[in-house]
Amino acid sequence: MELDRDWATAPSSSAVLLAMGTRWTCPGPPLLVLVCCAVAQSDQDSDQLYNETVAKAFLQFYDRTAQVVWNQFMEAAWNYVTNITKKNQEEMLYKDVEKSQHTLYFGTRARLFKVANFQDSDVKRMLSKLLNVDKAALPKEELREYNEILAYMETTYSMAQVCLNEGPCLPLEPDLEEVMATSRDQKELLWAWQGWRDAVGRQLRMTFERYVQLSNKAAKLNGYQDMGALWRSTYESDSLQEDLEQLFQELQPLYLNLHAYVRRALYRFYGPELIDLRGPIPAHILGNMWAQSWVNILDLALPFPEKPPEDITKIMKGQHWKPEKMFQEAEKFFTSMGLLSTPPEFWENSMMERPTDGREVECHASAWDFYNGKDFRIKKCTEVTIKDLLSIFHQMGHIQYFLQYKNLSVIFRAGANPAFEEAVGSVVTLSASSHKHLLNRGLLSQQHQDKEEEVNFLMSVALEKIAFIPFAYLMDLFRWKVFDGTIEKDVYNQEWWNLRLKYQGLCPPIPRTEEDFDPGAKFHISASLPYIRSPVEGSVMGKRVCCPERYFLSLVLQFQFHEALCKASGHMGPLHHCDIYNSKEAGKLLEDVLKLGSSKPWPEVLEKMTGETKVSTKALMTYFKPLLNWLVTENVRQGEILGWPDFSCSFEERESSRAAFLGMELNTDLVISWQWTLLALSFVMLLAVLLLGRRLYTLEKSSLTQDTSTQDTRSQGTQSQSPRSQDSSAIKPASKTYFLGIAMEPHQVVKRQWMLLGLCLLLTLGSIGLIIRIFTQHNRKPPWMRDEWGSWD
Ligand SMILES: [Zn+2]
Repeated sequence: MELDRDWATAPSSSAVLLAMGTRWTCPGPPLLVLVCCAVAQSDQDSDQLYNETVAKAFLQFYDRTAQVVWNQFMEAAWNYVTNITKKNQEEMLYKDVEKSQHTLYFGTRARLFKVANFQDSDVKRMLSKLLNVDKAALPKEELREYNEILAYMETTYSMAQVCLNEGPCLPLEPDLEEVMATSRDQKELLWAWQGWRDAVGRQLRMTFERYVQLSNKAAKLNGYQDMGALWRSTYESDSLQEDLEQLFQELQPLYLNLHAYVRRALYRFYGPELIDLRGPIPAHILGNMWAQSWVNILDLALPFPEKPPEDITKIMKGQHWKPEKMFQEAEKFFTSMGLLSTPPEFWENSMMERPTDGREVECHASAWDFYNGKDFRIKKCTEVTIKDLLSIFHQMGHIQYFLQYKNLSVIFRAGANPAFEEAVGSVVTLSASSHKHLLNRGLLSQQHQDKEEEVNFLMSVALEKIAFIPFAYLMDLFRWKVFDGTIEKDVYNQEWWNLRLKYQGLCPPIPRTEEDFDPGAKFHISASLPYIRSPVEGSVMGKRVCCPERYFLSLVLQFQFHEALCKASGHMGPLHHCDIYNSKEAGKLLEDVLKLGSSKPWPEVLEKMTGETKVSTKALMTYFKPLLNWLVTENVRQGEILGWPDFSCSFEERESSRAAFLGMELNTDLVISWQWTLLALSFVMLLAVLLLGRRLYTLEKSSLTQDTSTQDTRSQGTQSQSPRSQDSSAIKPASKTYFLGIAMEPHQVVKRQWMLLGLCLLLTLGSIGLIIRIFTQHNRKPPWMRDEWGSWD
């Protein structure tokens, strides 16, 4: 107790910080000095020194100082991303180094405690989380380089634009995203798709290699094999990889049926030149820059187009919604459940729209915790659309989590695991997007949904969430493989597309090379920051932006949460009808889970919420059951082939879509039909020549017989006939035959007919060869495809 009081009266955090400058030194009390300075002691002394009571005081001191250091860093980071300037970047990097020093300082000393004999499980858990110092483990110079690389990658992404030939340059948000979402002109889509990858991915290629090296070095210094292993450690599960694979396999029927159905819909619209019904889908026509969500092509893929859903964005615009109102609407949802409301600082400090004062900003939506218990913000370049409204619900879910755990130690101010953080916001959007809720909020006018409209609705959710499953999964796999060296640096892009083909059934619309770096055109890879989040740091940039490994698990989790919360709210009936708005019971259940932060192992937290200790796909499959039934029937009716047994990417076909035929540039289809004609003709000619040959043979034989008999007759009659009669018998027509209307000697005709026969044979063989080539080209594997991939189905 004595010691606790010492700690309690230790200098205030800011004073300590001032005294320390950038180097962490010890504050007052003597024992603390020993701990902080890690003076070597005899075993007995050190056992006494590093006991549980000291540990508690140590952790309290950590907590107080961390709140100050992290808050300063968050401020600097916020200033930078909402006003991208060199000066702000330098300030942020400086604060980042300070934060790393703090992390390293306490992480190193946390190792000295002999936790085995400690009684308090919270103390043990906190110390174990402190041990992971993440990038702070890097030597000073390399840490600086690493931070600069991270800032460079994120800034390159945020500032990139794609320029029209003679016109303005378009940023990703909202312009290029708008093109990808609304254009149905494949050339225009390709322009945006390719332009974005040229502007971002290519620029990051070289930097990314160094980033991987430094990440791995940091991970090794923390005692992990590589950075992928460090990331996985946040899940506190030895079987994470196997579990994810199993979940992925369980969801395959849903994805494959959706893929086949959407492919057919695109085939109807774009035709066979772009879509092969047995092959992968080109990645640029799915309504999204990364083809991770396909909801923007709902108009092409609506199961019952005669019953289109109401245009909620239009209704919102008609009702003069403003970005701030959208945030208020989301807030209302949480408070209706008896959850916490956001403090005034949130409304004053958040960036809800893209600034119009010429500042460069990073637009990617994110939620921020400033670690002082009152300052929480969202950064988003909001547009008035239903998509953005639901995205705000998601971000407000992060804010609700921050609010609920704000009284815990900084160490525990994080989700039960990263997937929980994502699932909380998403579980609310499941209710918020239901027909019942939207009707209740005046965003729909039609009172009832019939069965067909329900299938339409579920299709829109599936295009958003089911389409995302393999993408979320492979984003993870890719980086794990990059970090553990399975994917080497000279094949980054090739392997990226291998994974996208294998898991998503997508292919690039144009040939890609290793000059390109398409994974870098995705925010979470170029920004990296959410992924190097350690349990200690909460998140490096404090941002709760989506990151795939969280997203894949959270995708499954959100349905599991949804089912549990709906049950608590007393909901009866199909899961997709449920709306937990106004349910205090659901609110209480959610609150009990959120306020635990990361203080308990996540299976315990999951059990508290759902009664289960494992992530399960059951609730997700229940939610989508009506849609899956419909999809299966529809796909069977169309005779769809699930998967993509034709590996060829459509760009290859488009490249060869014009082929040469007898010196002419023709459409491949036309060439194929000409080749078939030619083949048929050759067979006819072959047959004709064979018949001719046979006839000639008979003719030749008979004329030879005739010649012999004529000569015999002539020799017999020489003595009795006059010379005149000899001449007349010599010009008998039987000794001549015709070839193409020309009379000639039979042996000459035979010669020509054999030549013709040979020619026809050659033509026939040539045609057969050409046709075989065309057909095998259709089934050719993409250049990066490996043989063993032929075996999956
Ligand atoms: Zn999120």
